[in-house]
Amino acid sequence: MNEETKRRMTKQRRLILEVLRSTKTHPTADWIYDRVREDLPNISLGTVYRNLKVLQELGEINELNYGSSYSRFDGVPMDHYHFCCEECGGVYDVEMDIHPSINDEVEDVTGFIVNQHRCEFYGLCLDCQEE
Ligand code: ZN
Ligand code: MN
Repeated sequence: MNEETKRRMTKQRRLILEVLRSTKTHPTADWIYDRVREDLPNISLGTVYRNLKVLQELGEINELNYGSSYSRFDGVPMDHYHFCCEECGGVYDVEMDIHPSINDEVEDVTGFIVNQHRCEFYGLCLDCQEE
């Protein structure tokens, strides 16, 4: 994607970022598309995807990839951990400090250079525990 394309998408991109930052649900591209379409009825899903990719390259958002299921998007670019509910599929932020020291541990064990790590916890969210 060239610089000209990136510049042209600015208005759409700003709205997409706004929509994504307005929720804590870590939505899919489809969900973002539906919301953005309320203001920009002619926007295509492909354009939403392209803008999400640019926003990720710019370090404004994160893509959360869960293997075979749909990617979700996170408007919070800082490192943080997530909890994934195995019952409802919800993805929640975990409000705790991240542990960069485990990067060192992995480096000690493997000799590899670790740039980052991702951590997801799995189980039942509060709503699903009640049912
Ligand atoms: Zn749940
Ligand atoms: Mn998050």
